[in-house]
Amino acid sequence: EGVFQHADKYNGKLLGGLLADGFDEAACTSRYSSFLYRKISLHKPSSYLISRLRSYEDLHKRCGPNTQSYNKALEQLKSGNKIGLTDCNYIVWISFSGLGNRILSLASTFLYALLTNRVLLVDQGKDMADLFCDPFPDKSWLLPGDFPLIDQFDSFNQNSPHCHGNMLKNNAINSSAMSKPSYLYLHLVHDYGDHDKLFFCDGEQSFLENVPWLIMKTDNYYVPSLFLIPSFETELSNLFPEKGTVFHHLGRYLFHPSNHVWGLITRYYRTYLAKADERIGIQIRTFDSRRGPFKHVMDQILACTLKEKLLPAVDMQDSVVNPSENAKLKAVLVTSLLSGYSEDLRNMYWEHPTMTGEVVGVYQPSHEEFQQTEKQMHNRKAWAEMYLLSLTDVLVTSAWSTFGYVAQGLGGLRPWILYKTENDTAPDPACRRAMSMEPCFHAPPFYDCKAKKGIDTGTLVPHVRHCEDISWGLKVV
Ligand code: GDP
Repeated sequence: EGVFQHADKYNGKLLGGLLADGFDEAACTSRYSSFLYRKISLHKPSSYLISRLRSYEDLHKRCGPNTQSYNKALEQLKSGNKIGLTDCNYIVWISFSGLGNRILSLASTFLYALLTNRVLLVDQGKDMADLFCDPFPDKSWLLPGDFPLIDQFDSFNQNSPHCHGNMLKNNAINSSAMSKPSYLYLHLVHDYGDHDKLFFCDGEQSFLENVPWLIMKTDNYYVPSLFLIPSFETELSNLFPEKGTVFHHLGRYLFHPSNHVWGLITRYYRTYLAKADERIGIQIRTFDSRRGPFKHVMDQILACTLKEKLLPAVDMQDSVVNPSENAKLKAVLVTSLLSGYSEDLRNMYWEHPTMTGEVVGVYQPSHEEFQQTEKQMHNRKAWAEMYLLSLTDVLVTSAWSTFGYVAQGLGGLRPWILYKTENDTAPDPACRRAMSMEPCFHAPPFYDCKAKKGIDTGTLVPHVRHCEDISWGLKVV
């Protein structure tokens, strides 16, 4: 290999060093060919992040499922008490909630594993293995099906005897005791309580250090609050000198569509999107118990995309326009549970010429009507659509939706966010540009661990702020 070829491979196929070389390509086509579908990222992973990923991979290989160290740690778990030192400590991520939520909570948990030198193991749930390739070389990230506590995962909650917050509440944790529990359950679901939230305090982090097995259930992107834990500060700024790139890098490192899903993505992309001069993604998600489509949402989409000049206006007078031979082709990728919005948009651009002479194609891969988290093909399509949105040049997303956050982060896109509508009217302005491509943490704690009182955690440091779409949420910028 020549020097230039080497550099091309590193920056292209290996995403600037984010990915390790040497995986079996056929087992996971997307891993080494995603770069063919994206522009090179404007954001380079730091050399420190790259070296930490490589050392994590070594750790995972040494401690992963069915290694000697894993078996030893399992013995401790079965015996109930922690005796002596363990070679490897683990964090088990429980598969929970919608797919967008899962992707974000899993990325957060991987970062937590990096920060605490733990090995991440992933509960397969119904379909994790069907949707994603293994991200680490040699050893799977999937939790073996015979893991002792696996049957209790569904029933773990705030009141479970091993729940960290519950134990704190009942003064059942004695940090001076010689023996520590061999496992703790961490409840970081949006309904968590004040004691669960102490997870985000340094004092509890140092207690957790000595617990070999942590089992976590969460539906949140909790990275912003990790940035507020003093003992993680230096490491985080070394890993991410450019702060608002956490999910962008970790997401592209971890989440490689399985071959089935890659087929959905690449067939759709080549058929409908590849030839366009510009690709615009519009992700439409309304959190309304009534069935749409709603006129006020359509009005909002048009108000946003026309005012921000993301889409060309149409000429309602239909004044004769000579279609130019080299008119620009814009492809709009709409994702929504309903087909109504994209039908209206498609008709508008068929019935009327654009003021700019551009031609606009409107495409929507599926309309699943409602969320069906348990169905295999449903989640494959949801994942394919998040990924397709991430391949667009310009992105419009819906407030509150983790589905949109995944797309923006993978794509490295700072989207225009459609504000949540109130009282069935399109808000004015209809949308605003996001401050960063990072996802929003919807349920952060508001607690000052040192002063032991409430505090606005969105005003402590310049790089952790309240979100554009949820006033009490936190995001890294
Ligand atoms: P959130 O609820 O928007 O934060 O995103 P989640 O992904 O966590 O949950 C929404 C789920 O609804 C998705 O995982 C899909 O199952 C389904 N869904 C919502 N919007 C769409 C869409 O545009 N396309 C498809 N295929 N599924 C969707």
